[in-house]
Amino acid sequence: MKIMVQKYGGTSVAGLERMRKVLSRVRNGLDEGYKVIVVLSAMAGETNKLIGLANEFSAKPDPEEMDALVVNGENVSIALFSLLAKSEGIRAKSLQGWQIPITTTDAYMKARIISIDEARLRNLLEDHDVLVVAGFQGVDCKGRMTTLGRGGSDTTGVALAAAVKADVCEIYTDVDGVFTTDPRVCSAARKLDRICYDEMLELASSGSKVLQIRSVEFAKKFNVPVRVRSTFTDDPGTLVTQEDDAMMEDLVISGIAFDRDQCRVTVYKVKDKPGVAATIFGAIAAKRILVDMIIQNTSHDGYTDMTFTVSRGDLDQTLAILAGVGDEIGAESVQHDTNVAKVSVVGVGMRNHSGVASTMFQALCDENVNIKLIATSEIKITCLIDEKYVELAVRALHTAFGLDKELKAAC
Ligand code: ADP
Ligand code: ASP
Ligand code: MG
Repeated sequence: MKIMVQKYGGTSVAGLERMRKVLSRVRNGLDEGYKVIVVLSAMAGETNKLIGLANEFSAKPDPEEMDALVVNGENVSIALFSLLAKSEGIRAKSLQGWQIPITTTDAYMKARIISIDEARLRNLLEDHDVLVVAGFQGVDCKGRMTTLGRGGSDTTGVALAAAVKADVCEIYTDVDGVFTTDPRVCSAARKLDRICYDEMLELASSGSKVLQIRSVEFAKKFNVPVRVRSTFTDDPGTLVTQEDDAMMEDLVISGIAFDRDQCRVTVYKVKDKPGVAATIFGAIAAKRILVDMIIQNTSHDGYTDMTFTVSRGDLDQTLAILAGVGDEIGAESVQHDTNVAKVSVVGVGMRNHSGVASTMFQALCDENVNIKLIATSEIKITCLIDEKYVELAVRALHTAFGLDKELKAAC
């Protein structure tokens, strides 16, 4: 049995006409002899609408009930699409997460997939040509609905492809593929024909929401080549795949990402002794909060300052945790700044080239953009800057690293 997974994002199913377009793509897969697993997101804006309704009752709604609420966006999409497919004589069936089941942890609103019943999917594919699966959702061991975090339908798509060992995994969206940076922010951004898993992981973890980071982790772990492409054009898109030598020789920097969902927290004047960092970050990790950049200042008179970033939604809880461990670490004060964003340059070519950091810092300096924090990995450099300069910084870096469409054409 040849299996193709096609995942469609919110804009691709935002309205009945667009669903017809999706159906024509599914038909192409059927015509090529594939069984098609179609993973759908909620229609554009629906998840936000449901979250907005919940926020009318509470600024911090109960996560378990939030998941019971937001799964309904995807449930509407799959039922409607299955009705459309069946009305055209296609043997289709809609499936919510619990009906497969896609079993997840009970970390509501940020659950992780534990297992997918592959045998059941294969059985269903014996009698059906198209399975229409709700993205973003699963079920925990208590039978409660869970969701995989915003953008989680990408992860459903890739995880299903890995589970059934699909021959093809396509992520359909509203742009032609993965670009050197968000094409909505930088009109000179170029579409990449290929990108390796590690670069895509770094871009996704640095804010490029074209793929949810967990989906790339799945793709890398199970070696699923993923094609990101547009629902609305015939462009072949971008293949996210294993690294090869040609990629290393290409560009030093493959992409630039930015993330506005950041805030900086500084714990001033903690004792400079073993165990302080472990206490702070242990308490934060215990609440499943992700910490991103971490900088510790040099010691002065036996004291130091500790600065780190968390996402804005986690700020209040982080401050409460720090208040709780304040006496233990002997902190003088805690301050935070929510008007920050991070910009990152990513590329495997960085491993073999020097001067990337200095090019980045000079480009930001030329635009008078102050750098507040710097973090590096083997293939990424990230700077925390004032949020108001983020688009300016992205465009300046895009030009500085020779990624602009026009510059490339002129070479
Ligand atoms: P979908 O609803 O199809 O899942 P998303 O909105 O989650 O779509 O992701 C697609 C969007 O990601 C694009 O519209 C684009 O603005 C944004 N994006 C950010 N960085 C990139 C990038 N490097 N390449 C392509 N798109 C990007
Ligand atoms: N509907 C969910 C969201 O808006 C999941 C997804 O679209 O991938 O985040
Ligand atoms: Mg998405």
